[in-house]
Amino acid sequence: MKAAVVPEFGAPLVIEERPVPEPGPGQITVKMEASGLCHTDIHAAQGDWPVKPNPPFVPGHEGVGTVHLIGDGVTGLRVGERVAVPWLGYACGTCRYCLTGWETLCPGQRNSGYSVDGCFAEYFLADAAYAGRVPDGVSSLDAAPLTCAGVTTYKAVKVGNVRPGDVVAISGVGGLGHLAVQYAKIFGGTVAAVDITDEKLQLAKDLGADIVIDARTEDPTEVLQSHGGADVAVGLAVDDKSFAAAYGGLRRGGRLVLVALPASGTLSIPVFETVLNGTSVIGSIVGTRADLATVFALHAAGRTRVISETRRLEDVNAAIQDVLHGQARARLVFTP
Ligand code: NAD
Ligand code: ZN
Ligand code: ZN
Repeated sequence: MKAAVVPEFGAPLVIEERPVPEPGPGQITVKMEASGLCHTDIHAAQGDWPVKPNPPFVPGHEGVGTVHLIGDGVTGLRVGERVAVPWLGYACGTCRYCLTGWETLCPGQRNSGYSVDGCFAEYFLADAAYAGRVPDGVSSLDAAPLTCAGVTTYKAVKVGNVRPGDVVAISGVGGLGHLAVQYAKIFGGTVAAVDITDEKLQLAKDLGADIVIDARTEDPTEVLQSHGGADVAVGLAVDDKSFAAAYGGLRRGGRLVLVALPASGTLSIPVFETVLNGTSVIGSIVGTRADLATVFALHAAGRTRVISETRRLEDVNAAIQDVLHGQARARLVFTP
């Protein structure tokens, strides 16, 4: 099979021939139908974060396909069934986080395309218990972006506690942001979308954003404050100054949900204003299996639209350049 491999940090990926992986106990081998390119895969390939993967490795954590091989001890999955393989590839199931609905915080977790090989390959391994079933009403092409971009932004809107009538700033309308706009609307928000390209601002409008802010020519802080301030702001842009702009745009009692992970990203906040305004700054990491099931159900019910463009796995390096230069449609998805 073909796999796209990071040989070393910062180097172009190489397409390698590898044997189709055999599932161990509890695992399945999945035959890829669609595999999304998340900005996280680019951070992984560049070694951007303090906790690093070990090259050579295969990125990818929006992997959707059919069950091809089933390992010992796996129950409840049949060959040919469609599954989605997310970032949370495995969690221990017994720690306090796993037991309280916060498996995304499990210290024993394994991450697809990061600590274990991921989904930029014709076949990939998954832990059966952490693979999500894809319902019939969701195409594989749509399921792939929902598996990270969808579940992550659905969760971020949830932890931001968006209520009907809230002004919700969505900072960055890329793979994650174009879905965040839609979840914020589903939760009843008035959405202010921020980006730095004409195409993304138009896309945000098409997807229901009530206000669009061009951060190249406008100060998001000022525009948000002119609307009374944001109740919730979700930081999805890979740019440190976008967090500060979103923080400044909050109203009293506002919540800033941090999601994007720029290399060595930092946000400096004034203690006095944060205390007196009762501001919350919340980190949010992906979502649980239950969140993913909800995301798929919303999509099957026609409540969300996934905007994507397909690419060949062989073109992975060009695809990465397109994302980095803002030239990709919301999400690029590899197909076999
Ligand atoms: P993306 O490249 O598709 O989207 C980023 C968007 O931000 C683009 O549309 C870009 O034009 C816009 N942008 C850039 N600078 C901006 C600015 N100053 N103001 C407003 N918009 C700006 O990336 P993505 O795949 O959506 O991922 C976004 C980030 O989220 C990445 O850092 C990724 O690693 C991270 N991520 C986090 C989680 C999590 O669970 N916390 C999950 C997935 C991805
Ligand atoms: Zn991701
Ligand atoms: Zn655990």
